[in-house]
Amino acid sequence: MIPLALSRLQQFNLGPKRYDDLRESRMPTILDGAAIAAAIKLEVAEEVKALAAQGVRPGLAAVLVGNLAASEIYVRSKVQSCADLGIYSDLITPPADVTTEDMLDLVSALNSRDDIDGILIQLPLPAHVDTKALLDAVSPAKDVDGFHPVNAGRLQAGRPALAPCTPAGIIEILKRSGIAIAGQHAVVVGRSDIVGKPAAMLLLHQNATVTICHSKTRDLPAITRQADILVAAIGRAGFITPEMVQPGATIIDVGINRITDRAEFDRFFAGDAKREATFLKRGSTLVGDVHPKAFEMAGAYTPVPGGVGPLTIAMLMANTVRAARMRRGL
Ligand code: NDP
Repeated sequence: MIPLALSRLQQFNLGPKRYDDLRESRMPTILDGAAIAAAIKLEVAEEVKALAAQGVRPGLAAVLVGNLAASEIYVRSKVQSCADLGIYSDLITPPADVTTEDMLDLVSALNSRDDIDGILIQLPLPAHVDTKALLDAVSPAKDVDGFHPVNAGRLQAGRPALAPCTPAGIIEILKRSGIAIAGQHAVVVGRSDIVGKPAAMLLLHQNATVTICHSKTRDLPAITRQADILVAAIGRAGFITPEMVQPGATIIDVGINRITDRAEFDRFFAGDAKREATFLKRGSTLVGDVHPKAFEMAGAYTPVPGGVGPLTIAMLMANTVRAARMRRGL
């Protein structure tokens, strides 16, 4: 069903002025991913306590290859989250020139360790390492990132699986914010194995009508304008513009793009004094795959930062506890 607002837009071919009117008539709800992630982490901490009473301590192995700054930041916050929630963690840091064979041996050892329930291999890996071979070598029972083909297959078949963390987080945001999914038209832009495809599958299992778009999609704006729920997982700063959004839609912006260029900053955030202060202080800021102006068309949206991002780590923690339970048949 295309809500009335869009059909009117098309019917009367409303120009920019009327778009502005529509925009001003509504105040979109900001979906606070940080608060939702904090709530999930509290629940996970409770589960960890309950497992401790049964003599079980979930454990996560985090494998960080080389010295990529962004990866180091991500892994550090994953290890810190483990500590906060009472999950055991083991940070393993092979050098950047590690071979695929050595990495396969490491994964095999981690698969055998009883104190490890989840194995996280931080991506990207150096180009000479065979990433697919490594991800396939992780035991599906310990695949807390949900990247193993067995888990991808289980997810598609609608069987209990360790689902990829970011897409699982999207569903948590929608559900915990009281946004209806069943019967809604969800349009997912992006078809990667780690975000787009699993997000589409999870939305389908929640009874959304799902359209998946990608770089070869014809007339993308015509499709995104039909979305009640629009998921942007493209990897291109500010790609979704106001004309691509149905007024009142829920926008989930998965994108994380760092911008350092002043002209680019102005393109997205001109007039945003708070952002400008951060940009001047740090020399960079984050923008999602959705242009900030497009959020003004939405009924609700996830901001960047502070939207989907925090959920990814929270769901990793939840998956680790889940894996600990499943492995022991609890
Ligand atoms: P990928 O590069 O793997 O996939 C991007 C997808 O976008 C592809 O399917 C591609 O299509 C599609 N695409 C690219 N250009 C266009 C276009 N012009 N029109 C329509 N579709 C297009 O990225 P990821 O899925 O790994 O990540 C997507 C974004 O999400 C990134 O910004 C990333 O940083 C962010 N991310 C955020 C996370 C979080 O925790 N919040 C976690 C993971 C990712 P095609 O397949 O045809 O090439």
